[in-house]
Amino acid sequence: MTMKALVYAAKEHMELRNEPEPVAEQGEVIVRILKAGICGSDMHAYHGHDPRRVPPLILGHEACGIAESGKYKGQKVVLNPLITCGECNDCLTGRQNLCQCRTAIGLKKPGAFADFTAIPERNLIPVPNDMPAEHAALAEPTATAVHAVALGERHTHRPLSEYKILVIGAGSIGLLTALLLQYKGCMDVTVSDTNSLRLTTCQQVGIDKVHNPLNDAPHPENHFDWVIDAVGSAITRDVAMHAIRPGGVFIHVGLQDASGTFDVRKMTLQEVAVIGAFSYTQTDMKVAVDYLYSGALGTLNWIEERQLSEGAAAFSDLDQGKTAAAKIILQIADMPG
Ligand SMILES: [Zn+2]
Ligand SMILES: [Zn+2]
Repeated sequence: MTMKALVYAAKEHMELRNEPEPVAEQGEVIVRILKAGICGSDMHAYHGHDPRRVPPLILGHEACGIAESGKYKGQKVVLNPLITCGECNDCLTGRQNLCQCRTAIGLKKPGAFADFTAIPERNLIPVPNDMPAEHAALAEPTATAVHAVALGERHTHRPLSEYKILVIGAGSIGLLTALLLQYKGCMDVTVSDTNSLRLTTCQQVGIDKVHNPLNDAPHPENHFDWVIDAVGSAITRDVAMHAIRPGGVFIHVGLQDASGTFDVRKMTLQEVAVIGAFSYTQTDMKVAVDYLYSGALGTLNWIEERQLSEGAAAFSDLDQGKTAAAKIILQIADMPG
């Protein structure tokens, strides 16, 4: 039996192919994929910059589907792509994102840009059947935002409602982080990006303060209580450390590159808390589903949907910054019945 799959065939080359259907190993179930989002890390792989993702590989890890077997058979589910051992101290204390045995679908295992994927049953999170699949497919980037904000909140000395917060990067993680901060009561959120199309999207969903470093004056020094860097480059780290207030919190989420210098003098003398935030725990994924389903993060009408067959074009449009959408979601199957 074969299925349709969008395969990362070689550097900057995505190909729609017929691939063998996956076979479930012990503890795994097969999921029929309904919709799956394209992530910044998929783009990173597409450029050949991720040594962990070796072509040929079916990418995609932000997915909603229908379980084909097991205890959730026939139910709509979100896939937690992070596969962990479940037995180490980090897993047992609910910090699965730190499991040293971790892997993921769309990384070493085939991913979700396909009709079917195989995944451990314990990685499935059932979602209400009336939850649109494109909203459910946002659970993974939303969980990343939930995790980053939760880490920041541990270092917070005043309520978020009193804070000025800068989010660098208006892709889906940046946008979802800004929406979550507003939902949590922060009234002064600025989103910064060099892509004006994406900033317009931010304004359309109620994030009034946007900043384009290509056109706008630099942020004042010592201005923001929190900076969340959803890009993670030498330039954005410099911007963050300049703009952060003494005693502020710098949450580093993106990992575009690891080059450049870091202002350790300011970090030390001004007690800037620098926090690395990586992915999410299973709890973050569940909380993300709840936020998305409840409408806490708005109508989510900024998603752009395309067919799986148009996936290769979607990758090249994202690469060239041609899309205003913070997230492109590939439509793979309709809800049966
Ligand atoms: Zn992702
Ligand atoms: Zn583990």
